[in-house]
Amino acid sequence: MADAGAPPPPSAEHPLRVAVVGAGPAGIFTADALTRQSAVPVAVDLIDRLPTPFGLVRHGIAPDHPKMRAIRDTLHRSLDHPLVRFVGNVEVGKDITLDELRRHVDAVVYTYGAALDRHLGIEGEDLPGSLAATDVVSWYCGHPDADRAGVEAALAGIRSVVVIGVGNVALDVARVLARAPEELEPTDMPQHVLDALAATSVEEVTVLGRRGPAQATFTTQELRELGELARATVLVDPAELVLDADAEERAAADRGVARNLAVLREWSRHQPEPGHARLRLRFYRRPVRLLGEDRVTGVEVERTAVDGDGRAMGTGKLEIVPADLVVRSVGYLGTPLPGLPVDQRSGTVPNDAGRVLRGGRPSPGEYVAGWIKRGPSGVVGHNKHDARETVAGLLADAADGTLRVRGPVDDLVRTLQDRGAEPVLLEDWRAIDAAEQALGASRGRARTTLHEREALLAAVRAAVGR
Ligand code: NAP
Repeated sequence: MADAGAPPPPSAEHPLRVAVVGAGPAGIFTADALTRQSAVPVAVDLIDRLPTPFGLVRHGIAPDHPKMRAIRDTLHRSLDHPLVRFVGNVEVGKDITLDELRRHVDAVVYTYGAALDRHLGIEGEDLPGSLAATDVVSWYCGHPDADRAGVEAALAGIRSVVVIGVGNVALDVARVLARAPEELEPTDMPQHVLDALAATSVEEVTVLGRRGPAQATFTTQELRELGELARATVLVDPAELVLDADAEERAAADRGVARNLAVLREWSRHQPEPGHARLRLRFYRRPVRLLGEDRVTGVEVERTAVDGDGRAMGTGKLEIVPADLVVRSVGYLGTPLPGLPVDQRSGTVPNDAGRVLRGGRPSPGEYVAGWIKRGPSGVVGHNKHDARETVAGLLADAADGTLRVRGPVDDLVRTLQDRGAEPVLLEDWRAIDAAEQALGASRGRARTTLHEREALLAAVRAAVGR
């Protein structure tokens, strides 16, 4: 219960000020859930370290998936809400500390995702020619912090690629690398990405699973798409699709697995086609080390068998899969924000249904949603339910007086501007949006992503005459 003499409850005049840190789908769904209710008047600042909103919808969903990327339009409606203020180009922990931010608002919801790549922890992982999928994805999506030089050096002259992991990100990377230039031409990839991909002539892409086809985490829709590439043929070894009676029964009981197996079994009849790249899906192979001296030449793998609980067991049989490029696609990992606890193993902020736990107890006024809350799994839509759960906790805390509207504070944007930061607001983002559409139109496309922070900010300055 609220103390006697405590500040008044949130009102339209003095709404509960909530900062949401991270303007990806989790952050936008959080803002949406906060503004869709009327029980607690709120004002939301949606902060992002990039000058652009949409997080992984912009810099994660593959650019050759325009239908999936169209969720931007839905997310934009939440950004347009009058009680939501987009504050881009502001890094919490750098432009403003967490403590300072917390003094400006009544509650903070961390929704900044999981930006790092998980490591394999094997020899050769850091050789030139070995890239994390997160780096490849950032590069082809035009993320301002992408390691353009590193990725392009690794891609130069490659003919064979191994992708380690059999999740949807692995399929995205394999598909983009196996696509013909004309298939990528209409996308919003930056021109230098299209040029670099057009200059490669990949003949073979091998996607490696350490367990069997029944344990793969890719989804059937994404799998099927590999079979629709203009100049690549998917090849699967029929022997790797043979399951014993128990495993077959378990697979049949899981609709997703059964569908994946049906697709793979159809492809196991494929033969290589002249003029087509070979896109091989191989299972029961655990990476042991990456080979090469000055750069990667292949992956040494150990054949595995899967036990009744779906666990991979080594068989001691080693093989070499040659490769000029290895892409490690074994999952994302959340990073700590200075001042925020993170469980190193899971890469998530300890929480109870979205309430941040410090020392095992809920920390009043601090919440999480999205991948930094539950780990890097699920598609964009999963964040909606996740955000609602977190917001329900926040609203309950507002209702019982745990959260209070504190006295007048300086406006966050004014404070940031006074200290020399250059926050990008919604109108500024609209200028970036228009500049990207204009750049795309000049090349006959709907949009071309601006991939440099300076170019993004220049579009803002040009529009506002700064
Ligand atoms: P993921 O689905 O968790 O896949 C990670 C893969 O890495 C698994 O195959 C895993 O195998 C493997 N792996 C992990 N550690 C390994 C190791 N040490 N050695 C070899 N293999 C290892 O993660 P993701 O592909 O990064 O995707 C993240 C999330 O984004 C997922 O929920 C995904 O569905 C979603 N996503 C969706 C789409 C889409 O809908 N189109 C596109 C991209 C991403 P084990 O299973 O054996 O651990």
